[in-house]
Amino acid sequence: MCEAAGDDGGCGAEAAPARRRRAPAHSHPRPCVKCGQGSAALVIRLGDAFCRGCFREYFVHKFRAMLGKNRVIFPGEKVLLALSGGPASSAMLRQVQEGLSRETAKRLRFVPGLIYVDAVAPALPACLAEGAVRGQSPAQREQSLARMETLLQATGFPYQLAHLEQALELPASILRPGPGGSGEPGPSYKEAVEGFIQQQRQEGDGDGGTSLPGVGTQVGDAAAPRLPATARTQELLRLFEAVETSTAREELLQMLRTHLILQTARTKGYAKVMTGESCTRVAIKLLTNLALGRGAFLAVDTPARPQGFMDNRHGDVMVVRPMREYMAKEIAFYNHFFDVPTVIAPPLPTKRREKPSIHRLMERFLLGLQEDFPSTISTVYRTGEKLSPAPAKASSESQRCLLCLCALDIAGEEELALEPTLIMEEPEPAGDGAESRAAFIPLLCYSCRLTFKELGPLATLPPYVRAEAQRRIGRAEMKQQSQEDPLENEEPGKS
Ligand SMILES: [Zn+2]
Ligand SMILES: [Zn+2]
Repeated sequence: MCEAAGDDGGCGAEAAPARRRRAPAHSHPRPCVKCGQGSAALVIRLGDAFCRGCFREYFVHKFRAMLGKNRVIFPGEKVLLALSGGPASSAMLRQVQEGLSRETAKRLRFVPGLIYVDAVAPALPACLAEGAVRGQSPAQREQSLARMETLLQATGFPYQLAHLEQALELPASILRPGPGGSGEPGPSYKEAVEGFIQQQRQEGDGDGGTSLPGVGTQVGDAAAPRLPATARTQELLRLFEAVETSTAREELLQMLRTHLILQTARTKGYAKVMTGESCTRVAIKLLTNLALGRGAFLAVDTPARPQGFMDNRHGDVMVVRPMREYMAKEIAFYNHFFDVPTVIAPPLPTKRREKPSIHRLMERFLLGLQEDFPSTISTVYRTGEKLSPAPAKASSESQRCLLCLCALDIAGEEELALEPTLIMEEPEPAGDGAESRAAFIPLLCYSCRLTFKELGPLATLPPYVRAEAQRRIGRAEMKQQSQEDPLENEEPGKS
């Protein structure tokens, strides 16, 4: 468990067992360690048995404490909750609902909106389906989408249903940080709170009800067909089919999802996005990222560090992770006890005889270890806190990775770019303006180079990635030309 209410030992689990009242083994129902009255409904760590009521209090408190401690979400601010239908983000949604319905003094004061990316199903190429690994037919996809929509509607918050296919239409600008962000501090949290309170007073007592500005304006498009055009889906499938490994496929899926959410946040005016990564998820991601060669970005990628609570790489839209101190087990119990609905999407199918992705392997490894050694996850999580270096700063776009937008971690770009394992130049039609795989390499960080290598031919990359790469390659060439030969710089660059 990550952090108990209060600071008794934190994630480290077995701290201070001496203080606990120990019930003899196999006795009658243990009393709750917190109130001493209710009978314990669950044990969230060795010796800590909570009754339902106390567990609920503890769970709710942790969420508020996380937001309170970090003070990045301003009152009245629009916050986009990224939901996957899975346990953690569903529990997060419930926390926000609870927080908004509390009495004034304790009420959360931001304005939530929801987004669900219908992501997994389309990543099922026909050739994979034959393996009969839990794929979804269009009918099934529609069904789970309908279930998700009912769930979103029931919240009364404005919501968006996005399809992964829409990632094909993303603008290239999604790969550039927006204006503002990390550089400018903006108004302080205190100023924002004061401003909000004043505004509420002017509007005459703002606590008449639970209604908030913006709430209730559904954005769902009831009339539109639920699923995207088949041609679009086919195009998306081709993209995934071309990917050579399940690890790269997983990375691609995550990237497209992130960019779609980011785009929605930008177009709908959300400056904050909340995602539901749990402590367990963070630990898995941490080890996965190490294995993927993303060691330099631990602090940015994985919210294990206090500053990892937020992710500022996109500039204008900040990603925050308020669930990062909950264990998957706690979340599962909470959802079970308090009837939090979830919609589980099947995992990405793997091709027959294909190795499972590093993501899946790490997950299996850690969760397996956790069964026998209950402090595994928390140890990894806490270790991550100590490992994470401050990420390098990127001052110009040429220093940012094209795909993950992190500051490039590669100093001797030339040497690495020439490394044979990374290039694998295929005989693609060369010539004027033709794209070359080698030209992409300097735009990518070490880890994304590895992924890129397995993404398949350039022709099947998402259009926005190719467009942005062309733009950067063009600019780099222009810059080089003007440096090398300032007089002969006749060719006017393509925009
Ligand atoms: Zn209790
Ligand atoms: Zn990268």
